[in-house]
Amino acid sequence: MSSSWETIIGLETHVQLRTKSKMFCGCATAFGAPPNTQVCPVCLGLPGALPMPNGAAIGLAVRAALALGCTVHPKSVFARKNYFYPDLPKGYQISQFDQPLATNGTLSFLAPERGIVTAGVVRLHLEEDAGKSIHDRFPKATAVDLNRSGVPLIEIVGGPDLRSPAEARAYLQTLKQLLEYIGISDCDMEKGSLRVDANVSVRRAGETALNTRTEVKNINSFAFVEKALTVERDRQIALIESGGAVTQQTMLYDSKENAVRPQRSKEESHDYRYFPEPDLPPLVLTPEFVAEQQSALPELPAAKRDRFVATYALSREHATVVTSNRAVADYYENVVRAGAEPQAAANWVMTEALADAKDHQEQLRVAPGALAQIVALVKGGTLSHQAAKKVFGEVAAKGGEPRTIAEALGLIQVADSNVVAGWVTDVLGAHASEVGRYKSGETKLMAFFVGQVMRASKGKADPKLAQRVLEEKLTAS
Ligand SMILES: [Zn+2]
Repeated sequence: MSSSWETIIGLETHVQLRTKSKMFCGCATAFGAPPNTQVCPVCLGLPGALPMPNGAAIGLAVRAALALGCTVHPKSVFARKNYFYPDLPKGYQISQFDQPLATNGTLSFLAPERGIVTAGVVRLHLEEDAGKSIHDRFPKATAVDLNRSGVPLIEIVGGPDLRSPAEARAYLQTLKQLLEYIGISDCDMEKGSLRVDANVSVRRAGETALNTRTEVKNINSFAFVEKALTVERDRQIALIESGGAVTQQTMLYDSKENAVRPQRSKEESHDYRYFPEPDLPPLVLTPEFVAEQQSALPELPAAKRDRFVATYALSREHATVVTSNRAVADYYENVVRAGAEPQAAANWVMTEALADAKDHQEQLRVAPGALAQIVALVKGGTLSHQAAKKVFGEVAAKGGEPRTIAEALGLIQVADSNVVAGWVTDVLGAHASEVGRYKSGETKLMAFFVGQVMRASKGKADPKLAQRVLEEKLTAS
């Protein structure tokens, strides 16, 4: 049903900044502390308490803006966003409104159906987080934890440039990767350090005007992004096809039911009565401060991927996997620097190293130098690929030097042609009838002979060498 329809999605992403203290006070931001232990008069909103901006948070926000190619404004203004909620003791949140920190950036990502898409970033502004309402701690009561109140946030408002739920997910993954690369946030959706709301509308294919949109909230895991947006898209299409009309409202996603329901209207507040924050002067950034943030940015993922394609002759797909996060990319480069051939190093990183990391809290347990040695042992014919995998597993679990471990496990291939010739003579002697059939043209028996030599050598013969010796002996005699 959706082929004659187009979906229009724009994401608003809230990202907690990785700072030790809060946006406007010195309270700690550590996640998981006992409730209401990281609070003070400022973040509790007690009368007369005055906010002081956190310079580290401003620096991280500027880095994010620069990484997204935004224009960073020399002057921006903090504003009060007024609404009532139990987890907001002040009755307002300090945010930015008509003069945000940064505007007009882009994010390019690989869309599943359209290839490389460059989506707009309308604005990026600074704000403080609200506290947290906890509904499952006491029966029939809601508890409030204000440890999160005042934690620094950026909000990244994307343009209506995404055309499917799958595209929204790919965009968000790319955004998360970028923010992790530049180290401004841990971007952990489960802990709430990255949160996303989506504006969704649909139109018939070929239409250009934007129709009424809804806002989907409460998407609290990466896996739910695509599901929640699919449910909302399908709801809107069904509604219009049955003669109804979409009304502008906020929909809450229920992951247990995989359904959306409208937020009760009294929970909604469209008029935030924004006005400039009277307790804070405009935020003025010097060119030196912005330049300092620019120089603190590492190589960004897209640039790194392109460089890996150019420098190491990797395919775009392989380079994408190897640069999926900064730790893996650095690891790969260290393996190559330790002497491994670039493509072989990529093959090992993409398979054994990433699989092992997945099972061990993302730790890359085999040191780059050791992996480079394993790659060299395979290339030199000392280890078969199978044996090398065993050695990799041992080094990962226990550490140590690959060659020593390979010797201890009896995995070194015998590449001494005299020794291999001994096994070949034994095998040919024991299979006279197969030798006869081979000589009369049944050359596919070579695989059988190689297998027999491997068996006789208990897997230690270098199979390429074994085949060469077998060919010599079978043609000579
Ligand atoms: Zn505080």
